[in-house]
Amino acid sequence: MAITAIKGFNDILPENTGRWQYIEQAARRVFELNGFSEIRVPIMEKTELFCRSIGDATDIVEKEMYTFTDKGDNSVTLRPEGTAGVMRALIEHKLYAQDPVTKLYYLGPMFRYERPQKGRYRQFHQIGAEVTGVNDPLVDAQVLNMLCAFFSEIGLHEPTLQINSLGCPECRPAYRAALLAFLEGRLDQLCADCRRRFVTNPLRTLDCKVPGCAEATQGAPAMLDHLCGNCGDHFGSVRHYLDSTGTRYSINPRMVRGLDYYTRTTFELVTSQLGSQSAVAAGGRYDGLISQLGGPAIPGIGFAIGIERVALLLGERDFSRRPDLFIATMGSGERFAAFGLMTGLQKLGVRVEMDYEGKSLKSQMRRADKLGARYSVVLGENEIASGKASFKLMETGEQFEAALTAEAVRQIIR
Ligand code: ATP
Ligand code: MG
Repeated sequence: MAITAIKGFNDILPENTGRWQYIEQAARRVFELNGFSEIRVPIMEKTELFCRSIGDATDIVEKEMYTFTDKGDNSVTLRPEGTAGVMRALIEHKLYAQDPVTKLYYLGPMFRYERPQKGRYRQFHQIGAEVTGVNDPLVDAQVLNMLCAFFSEIGLHEPTLQINSLGCPECRPAYRAALLAFLEGRLDQLCADCRRRFVTNPLRTLDCKVPGCAEATQGAPAMLDHLCGNCGDHFGSVRHYLDSTGTRYSINPRMVRGLDYYTRTTFELVTSQLGSQSAVAAGGRYDGLISQLGGPAIPGIGFAIGIERVALLLGERDFSRRPDLFIATMGSGERFAAFGLMTGLQKLGVRVEMDYEGKSLKSQMRRADKLGARYSVVLGENEIASGKASFKLMETGEQFEAALTAEAVRQIIR
């Protein structure tokens, strides 16, 4: 029996890597335009890092982490998200000392032990960005605009922006108490998970996907109505900045996030096209996280985009790369000339394919078609002798004569 991949771990096959590269390159372009630099951190960290940052009473830490004991008896975890590792690196290398404002982005695999389904996998990929060192609501708006700019860069206008504020340690306790009082009378309508959350993490009941819980928590008090003066002002300013640039968003007072470190501004980009996997990107402010991890008391804000979900949203678009030219040869005598022409053209940036196996002309032309080559040429004795050949534009059948030098051929193909 052949060995298969682990459940929930996917191969990204050549037919799809064009789509992935398109997404990744667009993100790099947009983020770098905003002054973000890439950071690459390990995919495995000490387990404690995630427990301390994401929070012990979150779904991720309670049931989704890939945690192992290594041969040195250390508890290690495959990263379920990117922010914790990036903040660990920021603190470890004192990046904040070089520049009080750091703007970083990352991309790579994340791991969560979830039930695999469309848009939800056990190894999945995120592109994320983080700004640390600035409190100003202007930065919240810049980060949100950058996220929206990424989606327009790849031609997606559908995922819509929802924002909320989760307040801060000043105002959240009173809100939590109001929410607990509300939930207390409805405990019997909540699912078992939510009855547990009532004790450990009551905000998460608002986010439960069980229909009964959504119904039972209708009319629950909203954090937005309990913000302290500073948090209220902050949220108002974020909205003001977004409005000033014409950014469209809606306010979702029920949005809570699955990680404990969020404060103030939180947001999601949601779509109706992926069933219950409706969030394509999400993030928020995490003003307490860096000090909680042993760093200085500096604020931060960031987001992560789920690449698999973005790839699904791009739909049927074709991202495959077609060769510019297919060189067919009549016989083995022309293979040196074909090889030389291919090598010369590649140096000039032209994508060339040729026959490798001495196949019949008919089967070579079938391959040229299958690869979607833009042009084809057949080299035979006559072409070699005269130093010229006809290059056929495959789409129309038009023929263009050119000398068999890389420069002359490129003139035609460009
Ligand atoms: P969900 O509510 O769908 O579980 P989440 O709140 O757990 O999402 P985040 O932790 O905010 O997700 O991660 C940011 C983004 O990463 C999500 O919006 C989604 O696009 C993507 N993502 C999260 N978990 C998975 C997964 N298991 N498989 C594929 N993509 C995922
Ligand atoms: Mg999740």
